[in-house]
Amino acid sequence: MTTTPRPYCEDFPRRVQIVEVGTRDGFQAVEGWIPTATKAGILKGLITAGLRHFEATSFVSPRAVPQLRDGAALLAELGAPKGVMLSALVPNLRGAEAAIAAGVGAMVVFVSASESHNLKNLNRSRAESLAALAEVRTRAAGAGVPVQGAIATAFGCPFEGDVPVAAVLEIARAYHAMGIRRLTLGDTTGMATPPLVRERVQALDAALPDMEIALHFHNTRGVGLANVMAGLEAGVWIYESSVAGLGGCPFAPGATGNICTEDLVYLLHECGVETGVDLEALCAVAREVERVIGRPLPGQVMKAGPRLQTADMDSVRTACG
Ligand code: ZN
Repeated sequence: MTTTPRPYCEDFPRRVQIVEVGTRDGFQAVEGWIPTATKAGILKGLITAGLRHFEATSFVSPRAVPQLRDGAALLAELGAPKGVMLSALVPNLRGAEAAIAAGVGAMVVFVSASESHNLKNLNRSRAESLAALAEVRTRAAGAGVPVQGAIATAFGCPFEGDVPVAAVLEIARAYHAMGIRRLTLGDTTGMATPPLVRERVQALDAALPDMEIALHFHNTRGVGLANVMAGLEAGVWIYESSVAGLGGCPFAPGATGNICTEDLVYLLHECGVETGVDLEALCAVAREVERVIGRPLPGQVMKAGPRLQTADMDSVRTACG
């Protein structure tokens, strides 16, 4: 692992936690069936590369997301690797029961900051969602399973446009009142920009100082890693990303991949921020994921290599002969 000896910015966190969401946010949009053993093999490769936090699958309706219908089998195949947190996305009480039965490490519940997206995605209002999620939280607490809250469209909505910071705060407060202390701001359709990241993180820090914040960016408009820099500047130390840049929400028009895990790790290491991840091993898994999916994926460092990976001069033809 290569890290610069001095941090790029003294105010950046020294170490960040990366939550790999590729097998959930990425695979949910893949149509062809990926066998459970293949999914498990990818997750095991990522664990070997040093990743420790995963949103591995979801317990949503198999009709809505057939690719993730093997959530329980996947968790069973992985067992309980030491020091690894395997969480799953859970939309309702039925999903929570399935996740608890499958031995999930943590549950992630979600609601959209925008009413239109929530209606489209979950077919209910935000208030109805929050009431249902309070029941999930109570059930999970009874089973000793931690619950994390996510806010979709936290930086903008494909149907409504701008999402007021007040809407984000309102949901964050509702989660807080349920006893939830970890919040993910989801940039579902890649509408976040560095100023919006700073504004929302600062507002949340001021309103709910004991809420841990994670950032979940999609690279839809090419500024995903710039948003990470804004997050680091604002003190955020948890980021969600997908190996090889997999991703895309099936219920949001034009949604593309998450920020790419190996590109994120490369950037962080170059800025002197530790991740605990072996970049070379991670790139090998990313190339394997590309083979599994069978088409080119957006990750860039897996193709170019890190900046100091030099080429043999004889291996490259000069442009002008
Ligand atoms: Zn996402």
